[in-house]
Amino acid sequence: MGNLAVKLTPKAEKIIKKGHPWVFSDSIVKLNKKGKTGDIAILFSRQTNQVYAIGLYDPESAVRIKIIHRGSGVPIDAFFFKRKMEQAYAIRNPLLQGNTNAYRFIYGENDDFPGMILDVYNVIGVLKIYSAIWFSHLPSLIPYMAEISQVKAIVLRLSRKLQEGKTPYREGDVILGKLKSPEVIFKEYGVHFKIDVIQGHKTGFFLDHRDNRRRIGAMAEGKTVLDVFSYAGGFSIHALVGGAREVTAVDSSVQALKLAEENAALNLHQGKLHTLAGDAFELLEKLAEEGQKFDVIVIDPPSFAKRKKEKEIAKKKYAELARLGVQLAHRGTVLLLASCSSRISKAEFLAAHRREFSALGVKYRIEAITGHDLDHPITFDEGSYLKSVYYRIL
Ligand code: SAH
Repeated sequence: MGNLAVKLTPKAEKIIKKGHPWVFSDSIVKLNKKGKTGDIAILFSRQTNQVYAIGLYDPESAVRIKIIHRGSGVPIDAFFFKRKMEQAYAIRNPLLQGNTNAYRFIYGENDDFPGMILDVYNVIGVLKIYSAIWFSHLPSLIPYMAEISQVKAIVLRLSRKLQEGKTPYREGDVILGKLKSPEVIFKEYGVHFKIDVIQGHKTGFFLDHRDNRRRIGAMAEGKTVLDVFSYAGGFSIHALVGGAREVTAVDSSVQALKLAEENAALNLHQGKLHTLAGDAFELLEKLAEEGQKFDVIVIDPPSFAKRKKEKEIAKKKYAELARLGVQLAHRGTVLLLASCSSRISKAEFLAAHRREFSALGVKYRIEAITGHDLDHPITFDEGSYLKSVYYRIL
């Protein structure tokens, strides 16, 4: 790994000094030599020639330098990263005092580890890497990840782009310890879950909704619940443990629904879980035609706007889901609508619902709007993606 000396355009320098973590290729005006993937890029101020930030160089990406440190020069060694990990761990610590042992230990840019996610499920870590800048640094980082979080094994998951290229590691590699089984059991506010850390979506589970699942569990007593885009049954199982009478989980993935059933069986509860496999839009329409109504409805779809040009379609889909949700609601139903598209703002999400509800003549009250749980700290605009709105239908 080499060190690069870098100067940026005045505008980019200002943005980085304000705290943004990305340097785009077209804002680099001086680079002392040809950089390699993972090189340490030292940013010098145009006017004073003082170091003001340090990043990792990524020649394959439009985000050419990803910032890992701000302020004057410091050695970028294993201890530097260890200190960053200790800081990240300290933020999560309050969460781990309760009956929860799964959390996001490292959340990319927001913890100064751009392009890296580390989720911990009980004693197993799942490290997801989105940029090749980390490969040369990983051998010195992995022991500290384990030391601080006390995980016994770490599994590597790679972004689709990295899976397609040439990398020193492969998707699913066990990079620390031994993995007895890809199935890992953990608890979230006392509710047990089993997930597959190799085959599962992302790192295996969607930890970001932890607090929303807790809220739904707390209001589920005696209720009928519809959990749309249920995946492994996150909301469903919290509802069952919270005393729901009947829960219907809808997902297009048969494997996810099988996992949801196994997760229901892992926990003590009196209610019944029904699963419906297929396209949520079609299934909700069908349930509405049958005249079904639910006391609590959760609709948490995948991201609809991965690209900018998909934004308008995404808004239509969110409006459509709001309409379908209302059709399945009665007076007093709680309808939770969630979006994980970072390209759709909270205001746009709310506006899509407002238009739809007013066209349908639906009266409602917003009871809560939530964001990310504390293991997803947000330090820049693009880091924020999750919004969840609790509507009470009147
Ligand atoms: N609510 C879940 C996470 C949802 S992730 C939790 O708390 O854990 C999104 C889910 O949507 C995935 O399981 C995926 O299989 C499912 N999905 C994607 N498109 C779908 C569609 N058109 N119909 C039904 N399910 C779909």
